Amino acid sequence: MSARDFDCIVIGAGVQGSFTAYHLAKHGKRALLLEQFVLPHSRGSSHGQTRIIRKAYEQDFYTQMMEECYHLWSQLEKEAGVKLYRQTGLLLMGPEKGRDFQLFKNTMHRNKIPTVTLEHAEFSQHIPQVNRYPGDGAIVDTTAGVLYADRALKAAQDVFRSLGGVIKDGEKVTDIKPGPLVTVTTVSSVYRAKSLVITAGPWANTLLSHTGLQLPLQAVKINVCYWRERTPGTYSVENRFPCFIHVEVDGVEHHIYGLPSNEYPGLMKVCYHMGSETDPDERDRQTDRSDIEIVSRYIAARFPGLVPVPAVVESCMYTVTPDHHFVLDRHPSHSNIVIGAGFSGHGFKFGPIVGKVLGELALGQVSSYDLSPFRIRRFPSHSKSAL
Ligand SMILES: Cc1cc2nc3c(=O)[nH]c(=O)nc-3n(C[C@H](O)[C@H](O)[C@H](O)COP(=O)(O)OP(=O)(O)OC[C@H]3O[C@@H](n4cnc5c(N)ncnc54)[C@H](O)[C@@H]3O)c2cc1C
Repeated sequence: MSARDFDCIVIGAGVQGSFTAYHLAKHGKRALLLEQFVLPHSRGSSHGQTRIIRKAYEQDFYTQMMEECYHLWSQLEKEAGVKLYRQTGLLLMGPEKGRDFQLFKNTMHRNKIPTVTLEHAEFSQHIPQVNRYPGDGAIVDTTAGVLYADRALKAAQDVFRSLGGVIKDGEKVTDIKPGPLVTVTTVSSVYRAKSLVITAGPWANTLLSHTGLQLPLQAVKINVCYWRERTPGTYSVENRFPCFIHVEVDGVEHHIYGLPSNEYPGLMKVCYHMGSETDPDERDRQTDRSDIEIVSRYIAARFPGLVPVPAVVESCMYTVTPDHHFVLDRHPSHSNIVIGAGFSGHGFKFGPIVGKVLGELALGQVSSYDLSPFRIRRFPSHSKSAL
């Protein structure tokens, strides 16, 4: 094999591509991970210090994938010798009789996830920092917590390298030629491999256009807001404040979520789970702030210990599918091209499992999980194959 020939090439060193490369290297494969920007960078979806990890979901298939995923996260912690996870619990709030609250609650119960239900009196005792409205339910997924995202990305890439994997950053892919050996051209070189995995985040369709496929993916800019605690530490990890998700908040379509103050002392991250459409190459030209206004109103009503004006606003992107479920599949016309895309703002926690599944597909193996919710064919009227 020449230095430009690989068993597998992975395009995109975000969380999904990094874990796919890690999985392939663990299976003794010669893998190349290509990244358009110099690492680390903050222009995709995987940067920033924290993400929520939880088993609480509306669908069984996500909850069941998280079972093994927790083990894989802890395995990486051991291999890299770095702490990646802190258990805080996740407080789920919302109208008790509402559809979303019931879906989450039933999935947790069906899958025997350890939970604590907080009735009104217990809520005021344990979570006095939040105004609970009459009719709201509250249930805690005690397995949930915070993932240290930047550290996790670096850990997966470091272990990949230590296993002989090759990372080339600052090397944008400009062309893909499908075939029994896939040819990948970058700004500075040409590589070949038996299989290719495309995990390009918001740029997925740009890369897929070289293979004659377009998916119904929408890149959106997220304003990542941090809010000042009136008394520092009120909503902190040390004060045992949990992560939270509030579903069916009055008058808004998507949920609001938050993480205890930790990475920026005195500031708590609270965000709206949607943003406005953007071109990923011109993210900062999207200046819509309606999501910030939604969160500001929410904080004024529910979190009296926070100043309802954001102290820090950072930027990130989601790549959203019409049903908010991922795409984990082989290319419809080229079975040795595998696609991981459309993580719709909730994919980070699944990184180790997504890497495992995409790695299995790239190696021609049967996937460990039922991938029917993630198949491309669920978008019959949208996915266009020009081939
Ligand atoms: C504000 C915010 C909060 C979130 N919170 C959570 C959470 O609490 N829990 C959770 O589980 N998930 C969360 N997510 C979602 C999660 O972070 C994403 O689902 C995940 O990071 C997606 O990773 P990715 O690898 O698909 O994409 P990316 O991280 O965008 O990686 C794609 C990579 O491909 C590279 N690339 C693209 N085109 C090319 C090319 N031509 N050549 C070479 N490289 C290329 C890009 O530069 C990029 O590095 C959140 C996301 C955001 C933005």
